[in-house]
Amino acid sequence: MQAQGPTPEIRGLNFSRDRIYAARRAGSMLLLTLYVGRACNLRCPSCFIEDDGRPELPPAVRREVLRQAAALGALSVRVSGAGEPLLQPDLLPLAGEARNLGLDFVLYTNGTVIGEDSLARRLHGRDGPSLARELFNLGVSVVLKMNSRNAAVQDRLAGVSGAAPLIWRGYERLLEAGFAAPRLAVETIISRDNLEELPELYRSLRRDGVTPYFETVLRRGRARGGAGLAPEPERVREVFYELLRIDEAEFGRTWFPAPSFVGFFCTELLYGVMVDAGGTVYPCAGIGAAVGSVAGGGTLEEVWRSSPLLRSLRAVEEHIGGRCRDCRHRGDPCFYGCRAEPFIATDDPFGDYEECWHGAPRSGGDRE
Ligand code: SF4
Ligand code: SF4
Repeated sequence: MQAQGPTPEIRGLNFSRDRIYAARRAGSMLLLTLYVGRACNLRCPSCFIEDDGRPELPPAVRREVLRQAAALGALSVRVSGAGEPLLQPDLLPLAGEARNLGLDFVLYTNGTVIGEDSLARRLHGRDGPSLARELFNLGVSVVLKMNSRNAAVQDRLAGVSGAAPLIWRGYERLLEAGFAAPRLAVETIISRDNLEELPELYRSLRRDGVTPYFETVLRRGRARGGAGLAPEPERVREVFYELLRIDEAEFGRTWFPAPSFVGFFCTELLYGVMVDAGGTVYPCAGIGAAVGSVAGGGTLEEVWRSSPLLRSLRAVEEHIGGRCRDCRHRGDPCFYGCRAEPFIATDDPFGDYEECWHGAPRSGGDRE
């Protein structure tokens, strides 16, 4: 039985426990998350982006931020959007710049530009299949957002009618270009809409040789309060155990089931930081507490070294509260769950992670 490591099987995001702790000891960054723009052609109800609306960083400044991250030790840049990154015409040059700096480049995309030739030609001067091949040749890893194999459900979860065939064609074209794990993952939210089909979707991704990246709804942005998307907690838990059974029985893989990701843990607060489209720096995509800015001459190093919040999040063991504090899974295998959820609920990133079914017993009995 193959036991999964702490991080997802995606090149650029896959760090061993030893590497994570070594980076933390050395004060090094491993991962920069960079939002490259706000334009989006979908309206996913699960989108948790909340943006402060500052002017977008020009391409030259984005490239400078990559250089600063590399100088701080970063091995990867994850490019995502407060929108769809492939709508940015400078996306391919940015990936080339990352490669020149020795950084892995992980692209989160809804796939529609790859699936729609006219869009791909207008933005990147080539059709969808050529765009997929160019991303492959640049060494990019792709995380494709795909939530369903049912057109009505997929359209609803993309917020746009007619999105499904473009997303699915984007997926097929990535496979045809040679993408597979660890350079291709499919990101799927666990929602009320797709709950019943998740086991089959998970299996089909494994059979395609693609990393399934299934996650719970983060209650922020459009998904604030769950927005009718999040299933009952008991159903979420059942899905995790069902997918674990599938992995163990059919694919010889095992992992520890705990939210918010199926098969791996959030570790990135120990070694990462996020820069939004306007240059504001946050601990991660979900914790909306600004810790500085790289716009107007600010540097990433200044923020990385001096922010009290970043420093305390990297020393999570010293500050953790709630049930995680006494949980027998803390530290190994789990890195204390999603710290954004407690922050959203209480303004305290070290507070109780309500969504987790593990942890110290509460009055009334053990939750496990
Ligand atoms: S703390 Fe939560 S929102 Fe932030 S990176 Fe981890 S899982 Fe994502
Ligand atoms: S209670 Fe906290 S430490 Fe324990 S498994 Fe859940 S998130 Fe991880």
